Amino acid sequence: MTKHVFGPVPSRRLGISLGVDLIPRKVCSFDCVYCECGATTKLTVERKEYVLQKQIETELVSYFKNNPDPEYITLSGSGEPTLNLHFGQVIRFLKRNWSHLPVAVLTNGSLLSDPVVRKELMEADLILPSLDTASQEVFFRINRPVESIKIGDYIQGLIDFRKEYRKKIWLEVLILPGFNDSKKELDLLKDAFQRIKPDKIQINSLDRPGRVEGLRGASHNELLQIKKYWNLENAEIIPAALQRKQLSSYSPNIEETILGTIQRRPCTVQDLSTVLGIHVNEVNKYLAVLEGRKIIRSIRETRGLFYAMKEQTEE
Ligand code: SF4
Repeated sequence: MTKHVFGPVPSRRLGISLGVDLIPRKVCSFDCVYCECGATTKLTVERKEYVLQKQIETELVSYFKNNPDPEYITLSGSGEPTLNLHFGQVIRFLKRNWSHLPVAVLTNGSLLSDPVVRKELMEADLILPSLDTASQEVFFRINRPVESIKIGDYIQGLIDFRKEYRKKIWLEVLILPGFNDSKKELDLLKDAFQRIKPDKIQINSLDRPGRVEGLRGASHNELLQIKKYWNLENAEIIPAALQRKQLSSYSPNIEETILGTIQRRPCTVQDLSTVLGIHVNEVNKYLAVLEGRKIIRSIRETRGLFYAMKEQTEE
């Protein structure tokens, strides 16, 4: 079983994407209230070789020997990939060996204020950073970063990166009603987008319940209103969770095991990842489909978010 190369998973933004996880769960510079991977256990900006580059390379070679090409190879996973000191070398290894496949990096963007990190990203084909707020107060409410990260430096890092990086940048903003959808917040965000100048601004909603009380996904109508308010040519709404029939890599066996497991007892994403031996991101894709079909439901407990079967009588 591979440990750091996972999927391919169906991605709403990238199609069928092979994930490469360079970080142990959950090392991140943020502890976002909506994180699908659970609470951050090591909140840090320290860059280290958290996962050995050699191990990643061995897993990649083995994957491509035995499997068809995905549409994208994506550095993503259960933490912030740019914290891995050797992520640039992994990108170069990918481009050397599978130059026909585009490499994307899913990042929270917090390390882009570091010129070394910006330089290491240059060989990737597509960067997908996120920006959920442009004010320090809401930054601490939503993303809960390492205290030393200031919103101004974070946005400036994105601006500097845009000036240096000639390929595509798709900036994601997750709309969280009650957190970042006030007029003041939306105006600050619009101003930041206009200064950053990404190729696309992707307006997204939560697929799944978040980790704190009161957090909910924005409805499609709410997203439409915000898109209209911003009136930016390069803004688009990310479609809702993919349906089972749209997922070419959807395995009925995995779905069956998930349902069989949570029928016996409610489980967290991490429990299911351990039972199935697949990455949490992959488990999350199945849970999104099952929740969309109203087969399962989530329950918030002190140990995290648990998934259980939805009773026939429940709404
Ligand atoms: S930046 Fe990503 S991995 Fe880190 S806490 Fe936020 S959502 Fe989770």
